[in-house]
Amino acid sequence: MSDPILTVEDLTVSYGRVHAVRGVSFTVPRGGLVTLVGANGAGKSSIINAVSGVVRPSGGRITFDGRDVTRTPAHKLVSAGLVQVPEGRQILATMTIEENLQLGAWHTSGARTGEVYDRFPVLAERRKLPAGSLSGGEQQMLAIGRALVAEPTLMLLDEPSMGLAPKVVDEVFKVIEDIRAGGTSVLLVEQNARRALRAADHGYVLSSGEVVRSGPADELLADEGIVAAYLGLE
Ligand code: ATP
Repeated sequence: MSDPILTVEDLTVSYGRVHAVRGVSFTVPRGGLVTLVGANGAGKSSIINAVSGVVRPSGGRITFDGRDVTRTPAHKLVSAGLVQVPEGRQILATMTIEENLQLGAWHTSGARTGEVYDRFPVLAERRKLPAGSLSGGEQQMLAIGRALVAEPTLMLLDEPSMGLAPKVVDEVFKVIEDIRAGGTSVLLVEQNARRALRAADHGYVLSSGEVVRSGPADELLADEGIVAAYLGLE
């Protein structure tokens, strides 16, 4: 097997005296879809933000595409192909849809903008309108589109289903599965554990900043003990 696209070893993240992540290790194989699941406060966002360079780890090592990127700033990681879709979408509501996509493509030619418009026709139709005029689901598609125009080899998604109606959640997961089918590796962080594990190849269950279980996603889903203890009864 080729080297994983992402290797995280013994990662720790602390905010003052709060130890949010305590020695977490995992890998994302090239072309794989891996999910980190766990309850609110388990440390998922802290991990994904450490990988994307938004939060500085207090210990451990992060290797992306064969390079040690543990303390590489976020903008350099984006240029290298590691692109995050942040929690809460973080679109610029008063700027147009087109401008939001241009921002995502700041370091590229923007060659993939046409593909994004083909994939999400609603964004093409409304390209001149403020992004804040879109529905929550459409804003999530814009946030994903903005990451796609950055030409990622690894896409990180932080709770993309948050606050969306079930039908829209299905659409978002379909898009994520398509992105992976197109060859982009995916690291997905979700509280919606069942849904995320159904899409993923491999899962890591987090609790209080530690990995408590990991394995093939279908095995985690089939394990009643895990479902009851960590994944809730959605
Ligand atoms: P959520 O679903 O709420 O985002 P999460 O699993 O992503 O949860 P984190 O957001 O990583 O978890 O939070 C892990 C722990 O770190 C929590 O106890 C949280 O309160 C704390 N924490 C997160 N960010 C900060 C911060 N900037 N300053 C202090 N504590 C923080």
